[in-house]
Amino acid sequence: MESAYHKEIITGKKSVCEIEAGDHIYCKRRGGLYDHHGIYVGENMVIHLAGKAKKLQLYSCQECRNKGFINGEIAKICLDCFLAGKKLRVYAYGVSYFQHKTRKNGTCCIRSARPCHQVIAAAVHLLEHGGFGSYNLLANNCEDFAVYCKTGFAESKQIIGHIKRLTFIFPIVGAVATLPLAAAYTVAKGITATRRDHSPT
Ligand SMILES: [Zn+2]
Repeated sequence: MESAYHKEIITGKKSVCEIEAGDHIYCKRRGGLYDHHGIYVGENMVIHLAGKAKKLQLYSCQECRNKGFINGEIAKICLDCFLAGKKLRVYAYGVSYFQHKTRKNGTCCIRSARPCHQVIAAAVHLLEHGGFGSYNLLANNCEDFAVYCKTGFAESKQIIGHIKRLTFIFPIVGAVATLPLAAAYTVAKGITATRRDHSPT
C-alpha cells in the first residue's frame, strides 16, 4: 500500500519545504527545452553535474559562497541558484512499468532508490573525489549523475524522449535525422559505462 509520502514522490508534487535530503530534484531550463537534475543533500544545498560550461564558476550568492563547493564539473550550490526561479520537481523512483510508460521521459525510474543516507554519501563522494567522468549530453549528463547517486545505475531518459518526440512529429525526416543521434547515444553510453565501471568508487 502506498504511503502519502510515497504518493507525493510518485506524482512529483512536493514543495521546497517538503523535500528531504537525498531526493532527486529537477527543474526546467531554457523554457522547457531540457531539465536540469541534482541531488538535494540538505541545508538548502544541491549537488549536481554542472558540466564544462559551469566549470570554475560558483554562483555569487552569499549561501553558495559560504557553503558551495566545486570540483571539476561537479558542484554543490544552493537550492535557489539551482532552481533559478523555476518550479521544483521531484524525480520518482520505484514506479510501475505502466507509470514509467505513461509519464514523460526523464521524470521517473522503475528501479528503487537507495536509502537517503547512501544517496547523499554517493553524491558527496563524487563531489569530493570525482570519478563520474566529463559531462556529455547524450551519455553522461546531469540526469545520469542523479540517477547514479540514487540507484547505483546511470541512465537518463530525457534525451530518448526528445528522440521519440522528433520521430513522432516528423515520421520520415525525424527517423532519418534521429537515427545517427540514436546510434551516437548508444555508442557514447557504452563508452561512458565502460569508463565508469573502471573508475574508482
Ligand atoms: Zn546560491
